[in-house]
Amino acid sequence: MAWEPWTGCYPASDGCKYCYFYGPYSKRYGQNTVVKTDEFYKPVETVYMPNKKITKYKLQSGKTVNTCFATDFFLPEADEWRAEAWSIIKQRPDLTFLFLTKRIDRFTVSLPDDWFSGYDNVRIGCTVENQETADFRLPLYISCPIKHRWIVCSPLLGKINLSPYLHGVENVRVGGESGREARVCDYEWVLDIKQQCANAGISFIFDGTGSHFLKDGIIHNVNPYRQKSFVREMAIDM
Ligand code: SF4
Repeated sequence: MAWEPWTGCYPASDGCKYCYFYGPYSKRYGQNTVVKTDEFYKPVETVYMPNKKITKYKLQSGKTVNTCFATDFFLPEADEWRAEAWSIIKQRPDLTFLFLTKRIDRFTVSLPDDWFSGYDNVRIGCTVENQETADFRLPLYISCPIKHRWIVCSPLLGKINLSPYLHGVENVRVGGESGREARVCDYEWVLDIKQQCANAGISFIFDGTGSHFLKDGIIHNVNPYRQKSFVREMAIDM
């Protein structure tokens, strides 16, 4: 399930150019003002069950909560709300909160006092799209106290050497860019990252080819419904 305590975003780097949510062909294009949503308290909302005379959380225990997937948890505009968002996360140790960020350089902003080595129920993923963003974000990322780490190379815009940054990472996910003006994703870059993961002994998932996928010397134009099945046929996850 998704939890968007705030909405609105704007580009952090080149990987945002055709953002699914805020890019030039997206429904939320132009929504760059960051605002708190009316689902801010969603994970801790309760419901009274008259039959059993108990109050329980609406959101069932054991769920994974995709947090801020349509914005960025570490946006500066959300600084004033983040402490309360952390306290909501802490109240639900029975849920797993999954984050992705392109702003790991702001990780230490509004960290709770009892964060220490990280909350068990929080998985923070760092997104990088090329070597430049990898070399800027990942040294910071691996220095942050986070219990569960994953790296997402999406949209993959070039060959990336992740090897110096894979220690302590649980998995790496890779995907091409989607959309009419999507930049090409080269299968050789994907295989190269897979090999780096194999060398480091961590799991690797190829999520999608993107719209323009270079393989065997041919650029395949892949419609959105075909991108995942194309990947499944290649069967390179491990
Ligand atoms: S950080 Fe994420 S949500 Fe924000 S513009 Fe970039 S891709 Fe879109």
